[in-house]
Amino acid sequence: MHAMVLREAGKPLDLTELPVPQPDAEQLLLRVESCAVCRTDLHVVDGELRDPKLPLIPGHQIVGIEEATNTRFGVPWLAWTCGVCAYCRSGRENLCDNAKFTGYTVDGGYAQYAVADRRYCFPIPGNYTPAEAAPLLCAGLIGFRAYRMTGDAARIGFFGFGSAAQILVQIARADGREVYAFTRDGDSAAQQFARDMGAVWASGSSAAPPHPLDAAIIFAPDGSLVVTALRNLVKGGSVICAGIHMSDIPSFPYEMLWNERSIRSVANLTRADGEQFFQRIASLRIETRRTVYPLDHANEALSDLRDGRLTGTAILDPWPASPSRG
Ligand SMILES: [Zn+2]
Ligand SMILES: [Zn+2]
Repeated sequence: MHAMVLREAGKPLDLTELPVPQPDAEQLLLRVESCAVCRTDLHVVDGELRDPKLPLIPGHQIVGIEEATNTRFGVPWLAWTCGVCAYCRSGRENLCDNAKFTGYTVDGGYAQYAVADRRYCFPIPGNYTPAEAAPLLCAGLIGFRAYRMTGDAARIGFFGFGSAAQILVQIARADGREVYAFTRDGDSAAQQFARDMGAVWASGSSAAPPHPLDAAIIFAPDGSLVVTALRNLVKGGSVICAGIHMSDIPSFPYEMLWNERSIRSVANLTRADGEQFFQRIASLRIETRRTVYPLDHANEALSDLRDGRLTGTAILDPWPASPSRG
């Protein structure tokens, strides 16, 4: 099979010919139909996350077919948990001390085939194509965990409007919440995209929203946005950091946190998050803006995400119909 392989952090992925992986008793063998690119893939490839498996096939938003049963499954970031640590035993397997993660500590989906522990996979609803479903598996699932942390906030700020934000804005709207989108200053294309997807207001992150926010979710990996978000928060409001990696948060006066404002991070997902997410979207039709790249153009997809050239989600197609440009 073809796979894009990370051999050393900070280096481009190599197009490599590998044997099709063999599943063990707990694993599904999937013919990968689509793999969405997440910002976390970028952090892994760029060496911002410690100790990846090397060599590594990245990618943790996999949609594939189990050919034996002709069933479509999604493979998320959480690949395996131990079931015995204090976190696993208290319903917080997202924090498992011994967890394995797809496309980070085990091989992922930048390939034509992948294996995954069936207990952590999700059946894909029949009304989504593989490319439509792929962004749901991290942007959707972990995004939804972040969204739930906002409680009953009526006005939510989204800082960074990409893959996760475009999904969550649709859920927020259906729940009767207002989303205020903050993008890089001057990125009018991203602001228009946010409005098109359902944000009531969109502007550069240095602008003040028309109303104070009840909560904010930080998707962009920029720690200074935590302080920006706090500045725009009502008393008792919360800032949720949804990404796995962020630049340092600048210091700020305690007064900004005073009055029961809070800052917290969201780490990984539990299988229950996935079940709740798919239940929540059963009555919705989540639309996403996507750019499809042939698998062997994964480095280009990562560069476009890194440099902010992408609107929406990058999708890798491991079986492009026509030969790619190489
Ligand atoms: Zn555990
Ligand atoms: Zn992800």
